[in-house]
Amino acid sequence: MAEPKSAELMEKIVSLCKRRGFIFQSSEIYGGLNGFWDYGPLGAELKRNIKECWWRAMTRLRDDIVGLDASIIMHPKIWEASGHTSTFSDLMVDCLLTKKRFRADQVEPQAGIVYYYSGVQEDSYNYFLHSKELKDAIPSWEEEVAREGQERRSAALESLVVKHLLVSEDPAKQKLGKSFLDASKGERMQPISYAVLLLPGKPPESARKIATQYYQERGFVHPKLLGERTEKVENSRCFNPENGSLLTEPAPFNLMFKTYVGPQAVPPLDFDPADDPEEWEYWAKAFRENERNVAYLRPETAQAIFAQFKNLLDTARQKVPFGVCQIGKAFRNEINPRNYTFRSREFEQMELEFFIRPDEAVEAIYGRVTSPTGPGHPGEPQPSWGWQTWHQYWVEERLRFYESIGLPRNSLVEYWQKPDELAHYARATVDILYKFPFSKRDEKGELMGEELEGVAARSDFDLSQHQRFSGKPMTVFDEELKAAWPKLDEAKKAALSQRYLEARRTYLAKAGEAADKAEKQAREDAEALAKGYYIPHVIEPSAGVDRLALALICNAYCEDQAPDEKGNLESRVVMKLHPRIAPITVAIFPLLKNKPELVEKAKTVRDLLRPHMAVFYDEAGAIGRRYRRQDEAGTPFGVTIDFDTLGEKGPELKDTVTLRERDSMKQERVKIGELVPLLLQKIR
Ligand code: ATP
Repeated sequence: MAEPKSAELMEKIVSLCKRRGFIFQSSEIYGGLNGFWDYGPLGAELKRNIKECWWRAMTRLRDDIVGLDASIIMHPKIWEASGHTSTFSDLMVDCLLTKKRFRADQVEPQAGIVYYYSGVQEDSYNYFLHSKELKDAIPSWEEEVAREGQERRSAALESLVVKHLLVSEDPAKQKLGKSFLDASKGERMQPISYAVLLLPGKPPESARKIATQYYQERGFVHPKLLGERTEKVENSRCFNPENGSLLTEPAPFNLMFKTYVGPQAVPPLDFDPADDPEEWEYWAKAFRENERNVAYLRPETAQAIFAQFKNLLDTARQKVPFGVCQIGKAFRNEINPRNYTFRSREFEQMELEFFIRPDEAVEAIYGRVTSPTGPGHPGEPQPSWGWQTWHQYWVEERLRFYESIGLPRNSLVEYWQKPDELAHYARATVDILYKFPFSKRDEKGELMGEELEGVAARSDFDLSQHQRFSGKPMTVFDEELKAAWPKLDEAKKAALSQRYLEARRTYLAKAGEAADKAEKQAREDAEALAKGYYIPHVIEPSAGVDRLALALICNAYCEDQAPDEKGNLESRVVMKLHPRIAPITVAIFPLLKNKPELVEKAKTVRDLLRPHMAVFYDEAGAIGRRYRRQDEAGTPFGVTIDFDTLGEKGPELKDTVTLRERDSMKQERVKIGELVPLLLQKIR
């Protein structure tokens, strides 16, 4: 669990985001919709800047990556090929009491005493005996029954009830009498077992209370708990950490949002199948038809890149190694959206598929495959790189990117997935984590981080799958490979062919092909390699825009001291967003709003800067307050136009302004004419 300090910090961040217009709850006026968020004026700019920076770094500043902007809804076969239809599911568990749903792997292991119950008995009779209503209606019943002796107890009570209640004129008494006779007729016993983990610091009664509530939910009015026994457990994930109730067994839950393409046949609201079985048959057929038009909102952007691979290859004038990147919305019906925007149901991704030669092709052409020589950035791409070097290159490139927009290296964690965590087709995956305030802590109390991005070496799995499912070839022809192959000695040819064949055979077998078919196909693939054909392998850096926006916001939030108008220190909240991604780059302030010359000059400066960067003009309120507002918005620069600017204190300061830097609060005098290049240099 996050420490209270972190929770407090998150509360402050969430409140600032709402107050300043970074992030709003979606559909707030209707009570919100869990897992959906809207970005206000500052948040929208922040997200745009993040995406701009990423797109620029991926495409504009490189020769080897092109972009794609694909549709959100695609042919459902795509999700069969990618495995999302069958396997894109998380295991979920439900609280048996509250029905709250959790991702099974997110339930923290717990230790403590479990109260088990073997069943329940309806205990209305007993309850009735102790009820206040009975005491009020027949105050002397206990003494009267006692006089009759133990064996006649029930019969004596029944007679009393008939005499005092059933024959009474008072309808309330009659009702009470009737319910007593009902309760006395039979005691329902059911062997429904249940268990509760006693939460730390709570008395045993609290476990019994939870169990009673559980049975009440199942229709027992006055449940009597049966067969109570206790047992100590360690490391159990079977109980709801919030109330101790037993959870259901883990069950898979598909995360894709389902929809229908084309108008759907829907029966009239007042249609009752019992009225017209024939019409019902018609609607049943229509429903089956609807199911044929099922489609999904994409759960990731990447698949479109694979599905469009051939078109991209034919038009982009690129040769392997090259990449295709895309930014766009993705949707996942997350079981438990949480941690503010971190786990949402609608979010944006920035994904790159970087296609590379299989190592066998690299070795055939260059005589060797260059593997990483040590940790760190391997430098400028080289043609002899194998997948491992490319993978390391992309991990390091992505880390550099995060640093370039203001996330310090020590706030990031490079997490190498362990073999048992890897997807079956992945050769290696590095998750880049950011130490969010709500991240788990290790035993030393250090934040461990949560995933911002995954960088996966996915072999040739994706294109191979689309080749199998679509029946369209996803191979590329590599001139250099074709030229190099005949020059290899026979032993080398045999070794490379064999390695390639084995890799293909393994893939095909895992994909479910029959052994003989897999063998035949793998041999053909190995023969094609010798002629210069192969399915490219891929390195996939896949990042989330919203998670990055949240990381940048968390990283930027800061409370410090700043002088007020009179020079006295006051505390301020400042968002130390990097100038490259800050929603507003520069704020323009005329010193006084009632001096037309100052206002006019300030507007001239605003118009001068506007075409180059995001500018905010503000003339309302004391200058100190205007600074504070911009500090909270994360605006890195403030320009004040004062009487010196107008030349009132001498010609040497005329047409100069005060440029104030948000973080250091340093102020310098700058010529208006120099502002654009100076500021551009800081945001490029
Ligand atoms: P997680 O394990 O956190 O669910 P994942 O490993 O399933 O994430 P990927 O499928 O690798 O995530 O998606 C790539 C990136 O997309 C993630 O690193 C993250 O930045 C973003 N992302 C994934 N799911 C969500 C979500 N529900 N809300 C916001 N961003 C998400």
